[in-house]
Amino acid sequence: MNFSKSHSLFEEASQFIPGGVNSPVRSGKAVGTKPIFVTSGKGCYITDVDGNKYIDYVCSWGPLILGHANEKVIDALKETLPQGTSFGIPTPLEIEMAKKITEMIPSIEKVRMVNSGTEAVMSAIRLARGYTGRAKIVKFDGCYHGHGDCLLVEAGSGVATLAIPGSPGVPENLVKDTISLPYNNLEAVKNLVKNQGNEIACIILEPVAGNMGVVPPVDGYLEGLREICSDNGILLIFDEVMTGFRVSKGGAQELYGVYPDITCLGKVIGGGMPVGAYGGSKEIMSSIAPEGNVYQAGTLSGNPLAMSAGLAQLELLSEPGIYEKLEEKSAYLEKGIMDAARKSGVEVYGNRVGSMGSVFFTGEQVKDFETAKKADTEKYAKFFRAMLEEGVYLAPSQFEAYFVSTAHEEKDLDKTIEAARKAFKKL
Ligand SMILES: *Cc1c(COP(=O)(O)O)cnc(C)c1O
Repeated sequence: MNFSKSHSLFEEASQFIPGGVNSPVRSGKAVGTKPIFVTSGKGCYITDVDGNKYIDYVCSWGPLILGHANEKVIDALKETLPQGTSFGIPTPLEIEMAKKITEMIPSIEKVRMVNSGTEAVMSAIRLARGYTGRAKIVKFDGCYHGHGDCLLVEAGSGVATLAIPGSPGVPENLVKDTISLPYNNLEAVKNLVKNQGNEIACIILEPVAGNMGVVPPVDGYLEGLREICSDNGILLIFDEVMTGFRVSKGGAQELYGVYPDITCLGKVIGGGMPVGAYGGSKEIMSSIAPEGNVYQAGTLSGNPLAMSAGLAQLELLSEPGIYEKLEEKSAYLEKGIMDAARKSGVEVYGNRVGSMGSVFFTGEQVKDFETAKKADTEKYAKFFRAMLEEGVYLAPSQFEAYFVSTAHEEKDLDKTIEAARKAFKKL
């Protein structure tokens, strides 16, 4: 495969953009490559500037659950666009979006739209602190909640990929109230709460972790956290930026039947436009300005283009059978890849919840950040490059998820499995 145009664009980009990319996870640093530059996408396929075509399992890092350039999403955008791009004045679409979210995620009675997952989480944390009058927050090692200062502690995603423990530019003072505990370990939370329970505003987690690679919650974990929070006046925040409308129509909370006080959303909710949201009960959300005093605002929040793309996508996802089909496809893909690894004698451990999953290059069960970090990242890098050569685009990091969309058809999955079979042989 020829990457010459991508590589020369990367050189040019690197002169004007830090690291040549507008988000570190796009860099090929961790897998020993340079990024490809994309020109277009359709369904599960993307095409790069050199004319190479790939089956895409990044899907814009999760938002494109219906694949690239879905016709109904594009049509919705086309319909809204001539009306104008932004007003900073309420539009009817915002009510439609809020209604749709509260209908799909019943623990949300009121919702505020923002422009990214990071913003949703930052705002949710402020709300939890404002509502409880407490300062401390608890997060979990390997969970990523965007790049807000107080959550850049033992974080996942690009922070894990680049092995950055904390970030320069985040003063000690800003993270002194952040406590990071191991994921899937209820005892650690119980011990902490025993001593400091009445100082903790919230416990925030990815109900299915997806930013240290995919790590599902162990049995009873979410239920246990729910109970601890309720018993101690601590708000439970589910960061469902990745899992919302992804692992089921109503997110991880619907799948596991455990309901948080505040939910953060992003990714799928925007249909590929820059959107985030956070919501909860009427009582908690009434603390937000102008109803209450917890300040949070946004010039472009509830933007009509973003609302129409997101709504079109959520409406399609509300049709019956979508998630069953996604589960079927994803299970088929996972089984094919795991079988291929076994036949080649390559040790891998697979985690998957619905249409998000990870193949870790380790023989050991991956249940938290510590076990995820045991994965052989060199092997993953080789696997990534071999798959790229075969026309399959995976996340350029071991500590990320693959995403299956409704646009991935059986023939695409078969091609992927065949590519994996060849790639495993090269390891
Ligand atoms: C992607 C992600 C974020 C950050 O969202 P951005 O839109 O990139 O700011 C936050 N939390 C989780 C769980 C995510 O997966």
